[in-house]
Amino acid sequence: MKVRVDLSLCQSHGQCALAADQVFRLDDELNLHYNPEPPDEFRAAVEEAALMCPTQAITVDREV
Ligand code: SF4
Repeated sequence: MKVRVDLSLCQSHGQCALAADQVFRLDDELNLHYNPEPPDEFRAAVEEAALMCPTQAITVDREV
């Protein structure tokens, strides 16, 4: 699966890291780091993160 975060929208709230800490992480300066191609086993957590993001900065590509 592919994940994209629009960092111009990200306000470092960290909800994504709470929902899917395997994929999203905030560093000490509150910069977001993430895995843009996480394994499918994290799909549910990533979709939860996308829903929780208050600025809707996270896009998840669905593979059919
Ligand atoms: S939840 Fe959204 S705004 Fe918050 S750190 Fe994650 S991507 Fe950024």
